[in-house]
Amino acid sequence: MSQHIPERIAIVGAGIGGCALGALLQRGGYNVRLFEQAPGFARVGAGIHLSPNLMRVMRFLSVDILALSFGQEPAAFVNRRGDTGALLYRLPLGNAANEVFGAPFVTLKRGDLHAALLSGLTPDSIAWGKRLVGLEPRGDAIELRFADQSSVRADIVIGADGLKSRVREALIGYERPTFSGQVAFRGAYPKALLGNLPVDDLTKWWCDDTFVLSYWLDNAREQFYFAAMTPQLEWPTDASSLPGDVHEMIGIFTGYHADVRHMLEHAPRDSVTKWALFERPANFIFGEDRVALIGDACHPMRPFMSQGAAMALEDAVVLLRALSGTTGFGAACAAYAAHRRERLALIHQVSSANTFMRGPTDPTWVFGYDALSDRPDSLPILQHVSRVPRWEVA
Ligand SMILES: Cc1cc2nc3c(=O)[nH]c(=O)nc-3n(C[C@H](O)[C@H](O)[C@H](O)COP(=O)(O)OP(=O)(O)OC[C@H]3O[C@@H](n4cnc5c(N)ncnc54)[C@H](O)[C@@H]3O)c2cc1C
Repeated sequence: MSQHIPERIAIVGAGIGGCALGALLQRGGYNVRLFEQAPGFARVGAGIHLSPNLMRVMRFLSVDILALSFGQEPAAFVNRRGDTGALLYRLPLGNAANEVFGAPFVTLKRGDLHAALLSGLTPDSIAWGKRLVGLEPRGDAIELRFADQSSVRADIVIGADGLKSRVREALIGYERPTFSGQVAFRGAYPKALLGNLPVDDLTKWWCDDTFVLSYWLDNAREQFYFAAMTPQLEWPTDASSLPGDVHEMIGIFTGYHADVRHMLEHAPRDSVTKWALFERPANFIFGEDRVALIGDACHPMRPFMSQGAAMALEDAVVLLRALSGTTGFGAACAAYAAHRRERLALIHQVSSANTFMRGPTDPTWVFGYDALSDRPDSLPILQHVSRVPRWEVA
């Protein structure tokens, strides 16, 4: 392989991490193409938090304003006992998020986050309907083979293809992700169905081995969202989610405060899905000479700190910095791994323990983190510059 800037970088997966990495690499002058199995963009998924460490990357890509226009900046992150509703810890957000952590905190639909990130890519960067089935070395290049029998060659391949990554499989063989023994019921519905129930912008209601998280999905506080986590012994299918049974959900959370029961009981039947929570152990595989992994392809974890997307964006930034600060992709990949391993292991561990913000907490190590400029000094710093998004996504 050439020891200079790679000619052709192929990113497999145009989800949250893939789109962010594509836009970042394009800003760095790289020749990037994304290959996505979906036939086109669709606003899929439920709610998601954009914590300040993630929003800092969005700002660098000039897609933060679009995300802010879709989403809600909660006034505070309120933590309560699930049974009595007693306040455990209230972290002021809103303007305070900017002042304390240097960027906003936003809640919104995953599809809106995806749309905002897509707007940062050069038009026609993505080849849709391309499901990767294999990678083969071909001299100095790598051949990507797709389910539609087509193939393409690239100098570098980056797997941003999520939990069941085929790129990871090509590197180390198939390993089934581990079912964590926990599931989450997720639902969204219009504010009108809540009636007169007063709700905080963002609340986590805690009990011993269950919790319920609720927030708004939009700027106008019209769409209400909840995720209700509970242990479950087995997950009977390969699918990540199934239709949720509202009666089953209500039965599980029956010991919760009346406000929580109200939120769950008012969810329309067809609005609830049940998600299996998968993970992999923290001995992350980051990649090697010509192939790297980011996001869930590298480090799927339980979503209890709401940091999965944030970690994918931080990965993308550090990989770009490593590429800019080293010679040859193998060295860049090693620098990327060295820089990410410790933080990811800690986030993975705290996510598994599900202790983050259960009581008085200083979250600066998570929310105040700046992937654009964090040490080591050997990696170049990326400067904030504003730029107009190049592609309006409907
Ligand atoms: C219940 C729940 C709640 C969560 N809440 C939050 C939150 O509040 N905040 C947060 O930061 N994170 C949250 N997360 C985690 C977050 O959604 C993920 O960590 C994040 O989407 C990972 O981004 P990614 O780019 O790695 O993967 P994805 O966004 O999943 O993208 C992977 C892409 O690869 C494509 N792909 C897969 N296989 C192939 C293939 N063979 N060929 C081509 N393309 C392929 C997929 O179609 C997809 O587009 C939550 C997760 C769950 C389960």
